[in-house]
Amino acid sequence: MLFFDISPDSEFEKIEKVPGPTKEEIRALVISKTRLTNEDVVVDIGCGTGGLTVEFAKRAKKVISIDENPDAVKITRKNLENFGLENKVELIEEEGLKALDNIDDFTKLMIGGSGGNLQSIIEEGYIKLPVGGRIIITSILLETATESVETLKSLGASPEVINVNISRGEVLDRGVMMRALNPITIISARKD
Ligand code: SAH
Repeated sequence: MLFFDISPDSEFEKIEKVPGPTKEEIRALVISKTRLTNEDVVVDIGCGTGGLTVEFAKRAKKVISIDENPDAVKITRKNLENFGLENKVELIEEEGLKALDNIDDFTKLMIGGSGGNLQSIIEEGYIKLPVGGRIIITSILLETATESVETLKSLGASPEVINVNISRGEVLDRGVMMRALNPITIISARKD
């Protein structure tokens, strides 16, 4: 196994009704925006299938991954075991905001799901981050993106926003047919 590669989507096990894994190309960008180092302790709220959790676990000191859906916790655990990364990750089956109340020492916060608690999760997370820490939100809804930006601005942060449109080529006999993936917005900010 190449330890610092970004794993192809096909290497993840999936179960019905649990979203993810975040697509390979998007995972690469999230890792970049996280400015991840091997000193980092990452909290991943809404870990889903574990796509991002696996990438964080390859590189960070420790990861704490949270999902309120028991099936998401189950499949994330399975994927971590398949990659031999289970010892790097503490898995918590709980609503994200509640779980965050009991977590203190982390340097990076990833929000991949927030179910109505987005603003509070950003506020509490941002306050708990050390100066120089980072917060990253991936969103498929416009509303999630705008709410994230507004909340971060109100906290005095300077959010960066990118919108990512990836098409993957299907190589056919008669040519390469491009197929678009869902656009994703990635919001990120440094704690000042
Ligand atoms: N980044 C993941 C996919 C995330 S899907 C991957 O790469 O695999 C979003 C997840 O957020 C879902 O599993 C959903 O159950 C979870 N979620 C949504 N709101 C939540 C909340 N308030 N607390 C905890 N988990 C939440």
